[in-house]
Amino acid sequence: MADSTLENLLREERVFPPPPEFAAQANAQPGIYEEAEDWRAWWMRQALERITWYEEPTVVVDESNPPFYKWFVDGKLNVSYNCLDRHLETIGDKVAFHWVGEPGDRRTLTYRELHEHVGRFANALKGLGVRRGDRVAIYMGMIPELPIAMLACARIGAVHSVVFGGFSSDALADRIIDAQAKVLITQDGSWRRGTKFPLKENADVALERTPTIEHVVVVERVGNDAPMTEGRDVWYHDLVEGQDAECEPEVMGAEDLLYILYTSGTTGKPKGIVHTQGGYLTGVTTTHHYVFDIKPDDVYWCAADIGWVTGHSYIVYGPLANGATGVMYEGAPDHPDKDRLWQIVEELGVTIFYTAPTAIRAFMKWGDEYPARHDLSSLRLLGTVGEPINPEAWMWYHTHIGGGRCPIVDTWWQTETGAIMITPLPGVVDLKPGSATLPFPGIGADVVDDEGNSVPLGGGGYLVLTHPWPSMLRTVYGDDQRYLDTYWSRFPGKYFTGDGAKRDPDGYFWLLGRVDDIMLVAGHNISTAEVESALVAHPAVAEAAVVGRSDPITGQAIAAFVTLRAGIVGDEALIDELREHVGKTIGPIAKPKSIVFTPDLPKTRSGKIMRRLLKDISEHRQLGDVTTLANAEIVAEIAELAEHAPEEE
Ligand code: ATP
Ligand code: MG
Repeated sequence: MADSTLENLLREERVFPPPPEFAAQANAQPGIYEEAEDWRAWWMRQALERITWYEEPTVVVDESNPPFYKWFVDGKLNVSYNCLDRHLETIGDKVAFHWVGEPGDRRTLTYRELHEHVGRFANALKGLGVRRGDRVAIYMGMIPELPIAMLACARIGAVHSVVFGGFSSDALADRIIDAQAKVLITQDGSWRRGTKFPLKENADVALERTPTIEHVVVVERVGNDAPMTEGRDVWYHDLVEGQDAECEPEVMGAEDLLYILYTSGTTGKPKGIVHTQGGYLTGVTTTHHYVFDIKPDDVYWCAADIGWVTGHSYIVYGPLANGATGVMYEGAPDHPDKDRLWQIVEELGVTIFYTAPTAIRAFMKWGDEYPARHDLSSLRLLGTVGEPINPEAWMWYHTHIGGGRCPIVDTWWQTETGAIMITPLPGVVDLKPGSATLPFPGIGADVVDDEGNSVPLGGGGYLVLTHPWPSMLRTVYGDDQRYLDTYWSRFPGKYFTGDGAKRDPDGYFWLLGRVDDIMLVAGHNISTAEVESALVAHPAVAEAAVVGRSDPITGQAIAAFVTLRAGIVGDEALIDELREHVGKTIGPIAKPKSIVFTPDLPKTRSGKIMRRLLKDISEHRQLGDVTTLANAEIVAEIAELAEHAPEEE
């Protein structure tokens, strides 16, 4: 940023206090923030209360070699034991997962059944020579064998590296090579809007460049006659056949590796984020308990893909360690029709639903009639993660999905943070649409200027975390220097998130997008999030992305890319109207110079808008790294549309 702070443009006046009935029964009660003021003591209490240890830790956090912090370092545990074995006597017959296949098939797995599957597969992996500390790559769709494989690795002390099942062969190969994985677990194919996506065939292409892989385990899911290489490849069902369901969990040190996961690659080359055992499990169980207010009878649905950190922390590890009943859906939200998710909510009586703003904007674009077809009255709490949520999208979610009655937890966090960092506690915190509200108890966050000084309330700047937390990344796999450079060198002693944020007079945090994306217009630092939210507040707009492109007069000019709601046609009159609307909502300085209507925006495979590609288009540059892009076709189309877009004089 050129100046020390960010412009504060958008004002949001709406406030939603917790419904009294919700507040009365909530896991988090007023006073929790004070309880957590001594963050070291608070996290130690959580670790001892929520985790079953073979040896309880006596050290909270070893801070002798910052930023290489070690949490609960003398503790010993097994994560899979915590997710499964310890529940068997009390809730063995409770459903761990309601699984819904895309074609409509169903599976229900109780904790007891899940434990047996994991035990068998853990023994099978041992039989393939997988040992403690070995890396196992997993390239799968959303089928039960995916969490089974992760838990089997955790059980025997192997380190998993899950690669999202929608990634290309190249992306898979790069990640296998970086982690030097010994075994790959995949499936013959996965369902994608009624067609069979050839996972095993893709994996085979990747395997041409991955000398470390000794064995490939293949789950049969779609029956597409996947090619099998003799001696290397083995069917999952053959492998587990006859295996003992009992597999003694490995006793792990709290700081042993649990998994590696690559970031989604919105800004550039993905980083192999390293998470360990005790601190991670403490972070995800504590946040899952308080943020999602989880109760024994809840039917909890985190509708992310397990290939992302959201799925690791809030489909697999947090919910299972907390003994929750979860939902897993294999397919696309619009298959066979755009009401698929709502149909599942109704059928399973889902009570808690967690998704991404990109999905909510798609629901808005499709229209209100799809959720209206279903009885969603079982829902009591909603959540979002992944991007700033535009206030209008928040309102739509609140009204059309939450029936006006469900609190919404807008959770800010990253692959690197492992668990939710900034979030409302439902029942305690008043909600403001578009704000992630306050740091979770035991988490320290601040907004700082270029020099690292705290920006007073009301101002904006860089979001930092001010002290270590249990579920933090430990390093970038194999690259300590990148860990230091990326996160700890910008502001000494503070963790740099890469995101911009502002705080309002109540101390609420408003995420403003990535600092790399911040626009500098006529001497003002303007965030992407505020201009986009102003555009989305117009009834014709479903989704918007803005970038600053170089301009001879103003330094940068705002270029907007806008997707309209179903049935609306974009013309020059609408362009003028939208410009005026932004000018009126947040000020003339933020008026886009150009507006291009596009059927979609370039997104990562996790659904986040990739603004850097729009900037490349706007400045007629060669596109940067596109390996994590989901919809490559759209980029050429947008470039074509942008070429012919009218400009404000
Ligand atoms: P890369 O680091 O490789 O560029 P990425 O940052 O997109 O990829 P993730 O770790 O999946 O990878 O995403 C974390 C980022 O997502 C955050 O830094 C932030 O920019 C954004 N984000 C997540 N949740 C929220 C939220 N509730 N509000 C605003 N932004 C969010
Ligand atoms: Mg990131």
